[in-house]
Amino acid sequence: MTGMNLNYMKVKESYLFADIRRRIEEWQKENPGKKVLRLGIGDVTQPLTPSVIKALHEAVEEQAHAETFHGYMPECGDPALRKAIADWYRKRNIPVNPEEVFVSSGASDELGDLLHLFERSLPAMIPEPAYPAYADANLMDGREIIFPGTDIENGFQPLVPEEDLTALIYLCSPDNPTGAVCTKECLEKWIAYAIRTESVILFDAAYESFVCQENIPRSIYELEGAKKCAIEISSLSKTAGFTGTRCGYTVIPMDLVRDGLSLNAMWVRNRTTRTNGVSYILQKGALAVFSEEGQKEVSLLHEVYRRNAKTFMQALDEAGLSYAGGKNSPYIWMKCPCSSGSWETFDILLKQAQIVATPGAGFGESGEGWIRFSMFAEEEDVEEAGRRIIRLRNEKYF
Ligand code: PLP
Repeated sequence: MTGMNLNYMKVKESYLFADIRRRIEEWQKENPGKKVLRLGIGDVTQPLTPSVIKALHEAVEEQAHAETFHGYMPECGDPALRKAIADWYRKRNIPVNPEEVFVSSGASDELGDLLHLFERSLPAMIPEPAYPAYADANLMDGREIIFPGTDIENGFQPLVPEEDLTALIYLCSPDNPTGAVCTKECLEKWIAYAIRTESVILFDAAYESFVCQENIPRSIYELEGAKKCAIEISSLSKTAGFTGTRCGYTVIPMDLVRDGLSLNAMWVRNRTTRTNGVSYILQKGALAVFSEEGQKEVSLLHEVYRRNAKTFMQALDEAGLSYAGGKNSPYIWMKCPCSSGSWETFDILLKQAQIVATPGAGFGESGEGWIRFSMFAEEEDVEEAGRRIIRLRNEKYF
């Protein structure tokens, strides 16, 4: 024994995207010159907006001069950015204080780092199908995982377990991969469960900006009681095109107390020890997102991806294919036709129509029989993919 974390042996190699890449490469080798339409990976294609670019340039220039140079930033985030994010919540009548906001390097980092607040004996509860990083981060930590199902008939709403259990509960709305959004009634049930069992909800709001239905919550704090039981993890990756720039934010309410400990105070202590904060330059770029102009600009980005979803849903409707998501989400979760498996459908799409999607089986066992399309692709690729799917259907490939 050499003292290594043997829990890493429980985590499978991340085969999903490597496998997808290998299959595409093999196909392209045999069919050189043919264009592949990439609707697989959930990475954005639209560039950063003008306000953000301007702010980034200005911040770089400031770093060039002794009078405006910035060294270490406050570990929990630039006070101006924490305030701008709190104000942005408040504008929607959600009372969040700047001290409850923590600036991060993105949701993935936070989803892993936050686990440090919880004992390994606390099980994780992850409604499946789910973003694979939730389970993997917990497996690496040696935590037991419970997978409650989702209510497929009801648009993949995560189902509250019948048994009361104290756990670390993951909710994602709009969801990756199903594109489902939690209704108020669904969240009310989870909040009541978390308060009753003294569980903590990790609410992943990475895709909140895609909600367009009025009655669907964009933040868990729109519901009463949530500040007593939930941490909200958000990101500018999909909201403002920051996937390669890296900035996000996490809200830990002052009211969230377990075992007499304030989780907010614990996280302040954690950050002041385990990070020296997010770069000054990036925080300046992020601040621009929350300006009036910045908000107008990012809403234009969302419109591009929403238009893509509309175009693609119209094609699936015309082809008579069943799907979930797409309405409040950049993901469309299609039922594989003719009872075929996820990988089988992946191969038909690639070989017969040169469309890349992500097999649902990669999001857990219950994702088998489904396939995910990302609407973050280029507009003309989505239009072409829609036409090709209709052709596949007419030619009875599925
Ligand atoms: N949460 C979900 C559900 C995601 O799908 C992703 C990325 O695809 C993330 C979090 C990670 O976001 P970030 O780029 O902020 O790390």
